[in-house]
Amino acid sequence: MAYMIGVDLGTSGTKTALFDEQGRNLASCTVEYPLSQPHNGWAEQDPEHWWQAAKTTIQTVLSKSGVKASDIKGIGLSGQMHGLVMLDGDGKVLRPAILWCDGRTGEECAQITERVGREKLIAITANPALTGFTAGKILWVRRHEPEIYERCRHILLPKDYLRYRLTGEFATEVSDASGMNLLDVPNRCWSREILDALEIDPAWLGTMHESADLAGTVTALAAQETGLCPGTPVAGGAGDNAAAAIGTAVVRPGRAFVTLGTSGVIFAHSDKVTIDPQGRVHTFCAAVPGSWTAMSCTLSAGLSLQWLRNQCCQEECRLASEQGVDPYELMTAAAQKSPVGANRLLFLPYLMGERSPLLDEKARGAFVGLSAMHTRGDLVRAVMEGVSYSQRQCLDILRDMGVAPDTITACGGGARSPFWRQMLADVLGCTIQTSPLTLEGPALGAAILAGVCAGVYDSVPDAADAIVRPGELCRAQADAGYEPFYDLYTRLYPALKDSFRELSAL
Ligand code: ADP
Repeated sequence: MAYMIGVDLGTSGTKTALFDEQGRNLASCTVEYPLSQPHNGWAEQDPEHWWQAAKTTIQTVLSKSGVKASDIKGIGLSGQMHGLVMLDGDGKVLRPAILWCDGRTGEECAQITERVGREKLIAITANPALTGFTAGKILWVRRHEPEIYERCRHILLPKDYLRYRLTGEFATEVSDASGMNLLDVPNRCWSREILDALEIDPAWLGTMHESADLAGTVTALAAQETGLCPGTPVAGGAGDNAAAAIGTAVVRPGRAFVTLGTSGVIFAHSDKVTIDPQGRVHTFCAAVPGSWTAMSCTLSAGLSLQWLRNQCCQEECRLASEQGVDPYELMTAAAQKSPVGANRLLFLPYLMGERSPLLDEKARGAFVGLSAMHTRGDLVRAVMEGVSYSQRQCLDILRDMGVAPDTITACGGGARSPFWRQMLADVLGCTIQTSPLTLEGPALGAAILAGVCAGVYDSVPDAADAIVRPGELCRAQADAGYEPFYDLYTRLYPALKDSFRELSAL
């Protein structure tokens, strides 16, 4: 039997899981680490914490599973995208990593757009300049910390720093590199044109691989530190969503997943590069060779319901703790008593501003149509419907791009609710499939990539299809009644946009 390890470097912790070749999870381990926010809107982590967590979790899954290190055929890496790790010529970390959720680079993004031109930037990198992405962070360090920039010789993404510690290689792969604003996404290579325009030395960037290619082998030193065998292959790996796609078998055209986690993501697989010229959804290289993904990201999906729970549902929280159930279950039970349209109440889920499809950090949430007759159940239903409408708006863009699927696998905490899954099916107008594997998704995806790299499987799509069990289907009901409410929802943000701007300036 062949075994693989997937390491998923998340924002709150690193989760490592060991799988056999049939995809059975034999052991998992997570080690958490802190996020530092030295200023409002900044987010940094110490790459040494990531390495310590990777070491401990790899040692733990080896000892918990009892699998011999010599039977581990490969390691796959996945992780949080967009983060900037800067190393000097000796491979020493120069400053804390600046993470995906750090918003300090507004001015740098404007500069990138000006230097490259918005249209050209979107045509080459498939995305507009976004504060979360890596290029703006590099320019920020150049401007604000020139003494550090002077000493920089290597730039790595978070999971690629783990690769460096495991293998000594400065390398990356196409799916994660797609989130840097530096990759020529259609051609799957660094863009010389963008690097020249931004005056970034190409020698600083890692060697580019496909996700299932060999991108290093474990060194003798790393073997000593982790318990792995020297020479164990390390695959290119993938960014967290691209790895989750492999772990949920979103590996062929016509397949997609939707995540109702804190944020909301729709991730659609395609065998062609399709770019939204307005940059409202991202296009990235997929971890499946020769394919791409179009992905939307809304910032406050589950977060909206969490906000409502924390601010308005103390009663449900108290009852839930008495009854030993989840407060969300009592909230959704109350919502089910409210009719479609929540008694004529609409909710805009822009609590953190919005990325897809508005690209407006000044947008804010709103209840529209509040009346004295509304109950908490109506509020909960309106929030769930508003979040579902925001996913529909994103899906409509993917439909226009020709990459929309008929069946979508639902992941994330919100997908635990059968009521929300049915609502999503009805609002999106497609079949929703439950995902049997949500927590291990990215680690499993990374392990599958490692298995392909090591020759255990023939191809990424075949391996994912053989391993990932399809979940239950939830079909859209004809005439569920959401359409007129959705239509009105899409007209509210344009009507309120200027008010949000004015409000933010008061
Ligand atoms: P994260 O993106 O932080 O990993 P999760 O995927 O765990 O988050 O999703 C958390 C969100 O899922 C919560 O904020 C809540 O909105 C939603 N959620 C969790 N459990 C339920 C449930 N039983 N019913 C409805 N929504 C739920």
